[in-house]
Amino acid sequence: MTGTTTRISHWIDGRESAGTSGRTAPVFNPATGQQTAEVDLASAAEVDAVVARATAAARAWRSSSLSKRSAVLFAFRELLHARTDELAAIITAEHGKVLSDAAGEIARGLENVEFATGIPQLLKGGFSEQAATGVDVYNIRQPLGVVAGITPFNFPAMVPLWMCANAIACGNAFILKPSEKDPSASLFLAQLWKEAGLPDGVFTVLHGDKEAVDAILTHPGIAAVSFVGSTPIAKYIYETGTAHGKRVQALGGAKNHALVLPDADVEMAADAVVGAAYGAAGERCMALSVAVAVGEVADPLVDAISVRLPKLTVGDGAAAGTDMGPLITREHRDKVAGYIDAGERAGATVVVDGREADVPKDGFFLGTTLLDNVTPEMTVYTDEIFGPVLGVVRVATYEEGVALINANRYANGTAIFTRDGGAARQFQFDVEVGMVGINVPIPVPVAYYSFGGWKDSLFGDTHMYGPEGVNFYTRGKVVTSRWPDPATSSVDLGFPRTR
Ligand code: NAD
Repeated sequence: MTGTTTRISHWIDGRESAGTSGRTAPVFNPATGQQTAEVDLASAAEVDAVVARATAAARAWRSSSLSKRSAVLFAFRELLHARTDELAAIITAEHGKVLSDAAGEIARGLENVEFATGIPQLLKGGFSEQAATGVDVYNIRQPLGVVAGITPFNFPAMVPLWMCANAIACGNAFILKPSEKDPSASLFLAQLWKEAGLPDGVFTVLHGDKEAVDAILTHPGIAAVSFVGSTPIAKYIYETGTAHGKRVQALGGAKNHALVLPDADVEMAADAVVGAAYGAAGERCMALSVAVAVGEVADPLVDAISVRLPKLTVGDGAAAGTDMGPLITREHRDKVAGYIDAGERAGATVVVDGREADVPKDGFFLGTTLLDNVTPEMTVYTDEIFGPVLGVVRVATYEEGVALINANRYANGTAIFTRDGGAARQFQFDVEVGMVGINVPIPVPVAYYSFGGWKDSLFGDTHMYGPEGVNFYTRGKVVTSRWPDPATSSVDLGFPRTR
């Protein structure tokens, strides 16, 4: 261990709280390769204690007025906005992404806070006067109680904000189990929630690994679990959580295809694909990792992409002028390089080779890689690589391209590049993917829609944030009410009718 001084603890009851399990995990700065901290890993007993506290906090919080909740959300929004640069630096130091990208994820998280400030409007129900004679019917949505979020390393601020803004606005207590690889952003968010006036115990951060996750999934005091991460874990979370009676939404991995039609503007498509394939070193669930080139567009597209890659500066994300930072861990960097080896062995053409790139030696760096002539049975095509590797698959027709995308097990996002509105509309109709971009490479929906893929990219039936997020964190109740004159009362064994 080199230069370790920091201990990253939990956030319980409005303050940092040292773990008691005796287990920790190392945290690295991926740009230097140095360990910078140790993070506490919670035990099942610590999960249990936190749920008890959160249960009490949830009871009080759901009694607070909608105006009060909205005021806390507004204050949190202001703090997050004002302190974006500080949070971005924290993210970059543990994740590695460049500062502007870290600020970008905070901005997209902030949108969800802004959406949740409208909670008085969002929770308005319907009212039917005189549904039967003298009878009114209305519906209300009430919080679930204690809910938990389990989040991935690649968006240590945005994904927790996808969940906690709506969960808290709806009147729940929220327990966050962040990624143990970059845990500090969650504590910064906790501090801001406190400064915004959120009562202690409503937002908790419990660091941990499988032991804490399993305790969350099986705990009877937790009503719902939101998960974002890789597909095998998402499936496990969904199956285990639902088997224990919980409401679960579990978002998984991705293999996002860009379909480039022959009429596309090649320069514009290349700009978009390069940004979406190599931004954040490809560690985005909405990264475009496959370019499907239709017909004669393939050669100019490969050329246009390959001339752009040497111009990208790979280095420390905290340094000015860096375009692409390191990967999250040494093991992950080596795994990604292994995929490039396998692709080359299987017959893909290595047009740009990130393994040979001149990158800083100390951190977990890998240069950008472009593979041409990728075919569907190669592991570089079948697997989510989650690194700076773009594969080009050549097809003859639009139909062949769409069939390829629809046959993939993942279905998170996809994008089409064309100047033909009719072709784009047909694509939107045909493609079996949850989020579609038309000349938009990373179609992450704005906060007042909802985010989610299809097939192996999402387990459960509710998408994340937006209106579906509000539904996920509340349960509906329908009230039928009448105030008859007692003098008119009589016994009636018939089933109540409305006519
Ligand atoms: P991961 O699945 O390894 O980890 C996600 C969370 O699960 C972490 O909090 C981790 O501590 C926990 N976890 C890991 N292994 C576990 C186990 N065996 N049992 C219980 N819990 C476990 O994912 P990651 O590497 O942190 O993140 C990258 C993945 O997340 C990629 O697959 C990416 O596509 C996906 N992702 C998806 C979306 C989406 O919206 N669909 C968004 C971001 C990331």
